[in-house]
Amino acid sequence: MRRSDHGEGPPRGRMITLRTRPIDELTVMIVDDEPTQRLAVTVLCRSIGTERVIAHETAIQALNDLGAGADNIDLVICDLDLPEMDGIELIRRIAALPGRIPPLLILSGHDTAVLASVEAMGRSYGLTMLASERKPLTRLVLEPALRTLLIPVEIVDGTTPSDGARIDRLIDAERFEPFFQPQISLADGRVRGAEVLARLRDEDGSILPPSAFLPRLEERGLMGAFTLTLFRMALTHARRWRDSGAEVTLSFNLSPLLLDDLDLIPILADMVTEAGVRRDSILFEIVETAVAKDALHQLESAARLRMRGFGLSIDDYGTGHSTLEQLRRLPFTELKIDQAFVHGLHDNPASRAIVANTISMARDLSLRVVAEGVETHEQAHELRVLGCEIGQGFFWSPPVSAEGFGQHIINGRI
Ligand code: C2E
Ligand code: CA
Ligand code: CA
Repeated sequence: MRRSDHGEGPPRGRMITLRTRPIDELTVMIVDDEPTQRLAVTVLCRSIGTERVIAHETAIQALNDLGAGADNIDLVICDLDLPEMDGIELIRRIAALPGRIPPLLILSGHDTAVLASVEAMGRSYGLTMLASERKPLTRLVLEPALRTLLIPVEIVDGTTPSDGARIDRLIDAERFEPFFQPQISLADGRVRGAEVLARLRDEDGSILPPSAFLPRLEERGLMGAFTLTLFRMALTHARRWRDSGAEVTLSFNLSPLLLDDLDLIPILADMVTEAGVRRDSILFEIVETAVAKDALHQLESAARLRMRGFGLSIDDYGTGHSTLEQLRRLPFTELKIDQAFVHGLHDNPASRAIVANTISMARDLSLRVVAEGVETHEQAHELRVLGCEIGQGFFWSPPVSAEGFGQHIINGRI
């Protein structure tokens, strides 16, 4: 569950409320065909203090429940090996559901490479993937996952029921809009650049998050076309900001699937030249799970982006089990520490150790480090102490429109 997923705030006329709930008010859904597993996870949840557990035996039952607007579900714990619909299809169908989608925790008997690629897939659909674990689930994994759900959450009243036909219509009309989430230099508090995050604008002016339309774009084979459209739109703004004297970097999310498309890279490069923007001010983020998967042709494409002079960033670092060897082999220029570790900085010693080690490793490899999902002053302070260069998160700003980001640039700091 994410705050301000919809960018600058609620669409006109909608109410926002803020709530923080105790752990005993959370509701967890388990999808597993094995009765012993369902029981084990239920007992584990209860031992942590979460009493409300809904157990489903099949993917269909879970989908029906979620599709019926199960607004009360805070976390779905899902097995990958289900009888009539495997977990991969289940995740795809969950991502396509209308309305709010709860975070997912994937459980499986498969090895970590399988888990990692499923997690990457979920993230590329815009889902919040809390963890992917081999069975059995332990308290060490579940408790921090449940705790990340306890941050105050903005609830937008009447959030976007999005039927497929409406989404398709908006996609066909190319009502995409780049939003920009500022990246802040922790040393001096200045705005260094932004991550570009896609939004779809409905006819009534409301803004739909990526989880509402990325799965559909993928299903329809439109990811490439969408990426180019969004890129072109964002470059127009970049040119304008550059002309006004501001040098900011822009980071774009690149779906690992697109790295198979050999034609894409020269097109991206030409678009940047045409727009009159410096290539070294453009970065492409590739999720770590794609790096860990070691798909050679995809990694080659990544290297070619770098050869063209773009920056290359490892996204969601810490979730993908890549090795140091894999990291060294690829010419990354930046590493983004996944939000889950940033959220655990204060109350989870393991997260803190991972953040500290990642920062020092990144420095050894001469990579710029960005911490994602920074929500509190304490986290920002701690990251600066640990030597992290750049922060990004709701503490400074949610993703905002081009106009909003232009204002941040003029001000120089937030
Ligand atoms: P991501 O690349 O990991 O992007 C960060 C997500 O975290 C964004 O969600 C952002 O709004 C959210 N976020 C930022 N700060 C905070 C914070 O302090 N706390 C919390 N809890 N969340 C924060 P968003 O915009 O909904 O995007 C979701 C995902 O959709 C992105 O995850 C990315 O994987 C995908 N996505 C977004 N735009 C594009 C795009 O243009 N192309 C592709 N291929 N994927 C995209
Ligand atoms: Ca990203
Ligand atoms: Ca990320």
